Amino acid sequence: MMSCKKFIIGKMLVAGFIVTGLFTQAHAIDVDAVVKAAYEKYKDLDEGANADYIPALAKVDSNLFGIVVITTDGKIYSAGDVASEVSIQSISKVFTMARVMEDSGTEVITENMGVDATGQVFNSIVAIEQYQGQEMNPMVNPGAIATTSMVKGSSEKEIWKNIIDTYDDFAGRKLTVMEDIYTSEAATNQRNQALAMLMYAYGRIEKAPIEATDIYTRQCSVGVNAKDLATMAATLANGGKNPVTGKTVVSHEIIPEILAVMATAGLYDDSGQWLYKTGLPAKSGVGGGILAVSPGKFGIAAISPPLDAAGNSIRAQRAIADIANALGGNPYDPAPK
Ligand code: GLN
Repeated sequence: MMSCKKFIIGKMLVAGFIVTGLFTQAHAIDVDAVVKAAYEKYKDLDEGANADYIPALAKVDSNLFGIVVITTDGKIYSAGDVASEVSIQSISKVFTMARVMEDSGTEVITENMGVDATGQVFNSIVAIEQYQGQEMNPMVNPGAIATTSMVKGSSEKEIWKNIIDTYDDFAGRKLTVMEDIYTSEAATNQRNQALAMLMYAYGRIEKAPIEATDIYTRQCSVGVNAKDLATMAATLANGGKNPVTGKTVVSHEIIPEILAVMATAGLYDDSGQWLYKTGLPAKSGVGGGILAVSPGKFGIAAISPPLDAAGNSIRAQRAIADIANALGGNPYDPAPK
C-alpha cells in the first residue's frame, strides 16, 4: 500500500511511511491511517473556547471531536465522533449561496454584495459602512443575510423549503433545525438584525430584512455531524454531484465561483492564513465545524467546538490542514514535470 521509493512525487512523512503526494494514486496512501493520526495528534489539544455570544453554544461539549474525509469516488474515512451534531452556523452560508447562484446566476452575487474580503470580523458593522454594503462577501454575515433574502419563494415557508432541501441534497440525508440553538440565537441576534437593516438602507437587501435575518438564524441552527459536512464538501469537490448518493445537487458551472468566495472569506479575516497553509477553499462556523474542498479529489470536515479569536475551530483547522496536505490536496502545489 505504501511507497518508500526515492522518486516519489511530493514526498511526505505520514504515520512513519513516505507516501506519494498525488492523491489520484490513492492506492498508495493509507488515508485511514492519515485521518486517525491527525485525530490522535489533536484530540487532547486544549486551546480556545466555545463561542458564547450565542448562549446555547457555550453549553456544547467542548471535547466533541470528529473528522471525516470523503473522496470524489465516494470512499469514506473517519476518526472520532462522527455522529454527534453541532449547529452548522456560518457553513450554511455556502449552501444558501449555492441555491441562489443556481436559481439566479452567479452575477447576482457580484452585483449585489460583491466577493472581496472585508478584512473585518464576520459581523462587522464598520465593513458595511466603509463600503456601503457593496464590497461584502456572502461568507460574512451582512452578505450572507442579503444572500438569504435572495432565495426564491413566495412565502417564508417556501423559501425555507428551498434552503433546507438544498442542504439535505448536499448532505445526502434529511437535516433538522436544533430548536434550542435557534431559540437562543433568535433571542440574541440584535446585531445581525442591525447588519440586515444597514444592508437594507444601502439597497443591498430589497425587502423584509428582519424576516431574512430570522430565516438566516434558522439556517445557522441546522444540526450537522462531521459526516454530513464532509459529504457537503465532497459534493462541491465533485462538481456539484453528491458522490455518496449520486444525485446532481447543483450544476458544475457554479462550483468555481462557490469555491472562490470560500477561498476569499471562508475563514473570515484569517482566510489568507488558511489559504497559505492549505490552498483549500473552506468554510467554518462558530458551532465548531469546518469543511474544506480539494477540487476533484476530496471533501474533508472536522467538528470541535473550541474556537480561536477569529471564530474558527482550533482542532478542526489543525486536523484538516495536516490531513489535506498529507493527501496532496493543495491545488496550488503542482508537481514539476
Ligand atoms: N449564526 C452565527 C452568527 O450570525 C454564525 C456566525 C459564524 O458561524 N461565524 O453570528
